[in-house]
Amino acid sequence: MLAKKVLLLALMIFSICAQILAYTGNSNTYKFHRESCHHESRIANHHRVHFDTRQEAVNAGYVPCNVCRP
Ligand SMILES: [Zn+2]
Repeated sequence: MLAKKVLLLALMIFSICAQILAYTGNSNTYKFHRESCHHESRIANHHRVHFDTRQEAVNAGYVPCNVCRP
């Protein structure tokens, strides 16, 4: 029973970390940013592309932002 609770807690922590480390791409400039970057907040809603990992963004052909260096 305890193991089940620990597993559930680990899953919760993992999903929170995944959100913090998420990236946003700009389908207009083909650059991607950390979600904390001030450029990220300026991306128009229709140009926003969400990536869960950095690798995912690179694989999609996006280049890292020079400001936040994701
Ligand atoms: Zn940036």
